[in-house]
Amino acid sequence: MNKETFLYPAIHTKNADFNMWLAFPGPYSFAMSSLGFLWMFKSIDELEDVNVERIYSDTKTTVLHKESINLFGFSFSFDTDFLTIFSMLERFDIPLKSSERSEEHPFVFAGGPVVSANPEPYKDFFDFVIIGDGEDVNLKVVEICRCNKGKPRDYVLTELSKLEGVYVPKFGSRTINKLTKKLSECIYTPILSDGAFFKNTFILEVSRGCANRCGFCLASYLNLPLRFMPYEELINVVNLGLGKTNKIALLGAQISAHPHFKDICKYIYDRISKGEKIEMSVSSLRVDAITPDVVKTLVAAGQKNSTLAIEAGSERLRKVINKNVSEEQIFNAVRIARDNGLKGLKFYGMLGLPTETQEDLDEIIKLAEKLKTEFKGFDISFGFSSFVPKPHTPFQWCGREKTKSLEDKSNFIKKELHKLGVSSSVSSIKWDYWQAVLSRGDGSFTDFLIDVYKKGGKIGAFKSAAKLHNINTDYYAYNDFNLEDRLPWDFIELRPGKDFLIKEHNRLLYNN
Ligand code: SF4
Repeated sequence: MNKETFLYPAIHTKNADFNMWLAFPGPYSFAMSSLGFLWMFKSIDELEDVNVERIYSDTKTTVLHKESINLFGFSFSFDTDFLTIFSMLERFDIPLKSSERSEEHPFVFAGGPVVSANPEPYKDFFDFVIIGDGEDVNLKVVEICRCNKGKPRDYVLTELSKLEGVYVPKFGSRTINKLTKKLSECIYTPILSDGAFFKNTFILEVSRGCANRCGFCLASYLNLPLRFMPYEELINVVNLGLGKTNKIALLGAQISAHPHFKDICKYIYDRISKGEKIEMSVSSLRVDAITPDVVKTLVAAGQKNSTLAIEAGSERLRKVINKNVSEEQIFNAVRIARDNGLKGLKFYGMLGLPTETQEDLDEIIKLAEKLKTEFKGFDISFGFSSFVPKPHTPFQWCGREKTKSLEDKSNFIKKELHKLGVSSSVSSIKWDYWQAVLSRGDGSFTDFLIDVYKKGGKIGAFKSAAKLHNINTDYYAYNDFNLEDRLPWDFIELRPGKDFLIKEHNRLLYNN
C-alpha cells in the first residue's frame, strides 16, 4: 500500500451525486510524479459536490462504481498514450468511439500536449478535448457537466462547446483558441507518495514555456509566452513542500531564465548551509544557466550529474534550429560544472534535423573529442533522439529523414563515440517514425488506430494496421508539406500564429 501525504485539506467524505474518474494512461508511479495530472485532481477534489477518483493503467479496483461515472477525463502527454487510453475504456465497457456512446455512458474527454497540438487523429474517441492550459476551464467543464446531469448528451456538448478552449469534434473543427493561463498561483505536487517514480518528491513549477523558440520545439511554441511564477509565491510554496519532505524538484523548460532563479537557488543553498538535508534537482539546464552559484546549490543538494541540451554538434546547425549556443559557451559551461563539483554532464542532441549533413555529424564527434581531452576525468556522455516534425512549430512542414538513413547516422555516431570512450544512446528511430506519423496525423486515422490497439500496439501492429486501412504513413512522416497547405491542426489558434511560423521557417531554413 502506498503512503500518500496530502498537502491540501482533502474532503474525504462528500455528499455528492456527481462522479468523475480522472485517468492517467500509465502506472500509479508515473501518475504520482505528473504535476499536471495531480494538480487537476486537486482542483476537482476541492469541489464539495463532485466525487473524483484517480485511476491508472494498473488500478486493480475502483472506489466509484463504473455505472455511476458521469465524467471520465484522460491526460494525454505522449503520442502512444492512445493505446493505454483504449485499454482503460475497454476495461470499463465504454465504447472507444464517441458516436457509439449512449446517454448511459460518461462523457469522455482528454487534455494535455498531444491533443492540444493536434487532436485530429483522436477526434472520434473523445466527446470533447481541452486545448491548452486547462487549469481554469477544467472546473467550468465539470460544473457544466454536473449542472446538466441527465440532460441529453448533445445539449451538454453544446454548452461545453461555448467554452473557450473546448473542442467538441462532433460539431466540426471551428477555430479554437488555445488556452493560455496567467500564472499567478504556483502549481506544485499536491499529494506526495512513497510509490511515486520520484519518491516523495515535491515538484513545483517555476516557469512555463520557453522563449528560445527552437524551430522543432513544440514545448516552446505550445507554451508561449514564457511565464514566470512570482518569487514570493515560489518561496512560500518551497516552504510548504519542505515542511513535508526533503526532496524538491524545480520544473520548467527554461527555469534559469526566471529573473529570480539565482535567488531561489540561494534560498535553498542557505537552508542547506544551516544544516538542513535537502535534495534538489532541476528538470534541465541551458548552457547559459550553468553559473557557479547554481551548480554549487545543485551539488550541495545531492546532484552529481546534469544534462545539457545542445541539440546539434555544429554551430551552423544550431543556428539553423535557433539554438544560438557557441562552442565557447559549451566549454565554459562544462568548466563551471566541473569546477563547482558536478561529476559529469550528458549532452542531448537530435539526429536528422533539417539541413543536417555529414559535416554536422563529424562536428559532434570533434566536440566530444575536444571535451574529452580538455576535461579528463569528467564524465561526458551523449544521448540522441531523431527529429520528429511537430505541429505549430516552424519545422512542422519539414518531412523527416528516411528511417534507413537515420539508422546509418545512429550507427556512425555510436561507433565513433565508442572509439573515443564516450558512451552514447540513441532513441528508437523506428518508434520516432511512428511518432512523426501520429504528430502530423489527421481525422482519417480512427479505424487505423483502433486496429493498432487490437493488434497489440507494437511496431508490427502499426505496420499491418496501416496496410489494412490504406494509410500511407510515409506521407505523414516523410513528406515536406507546402507552406500554403491547410494542415489538419490549423483550426487550433496559437499565438504568435501561422504567419509567424512561415516567416520563421523561411528565416531559419533559407535565411530570408
Ligand atoms: S531551449 Fe529547449 S525548451 Fe527552449 S525552445 Fe529550445 S529545445 Fe525547446
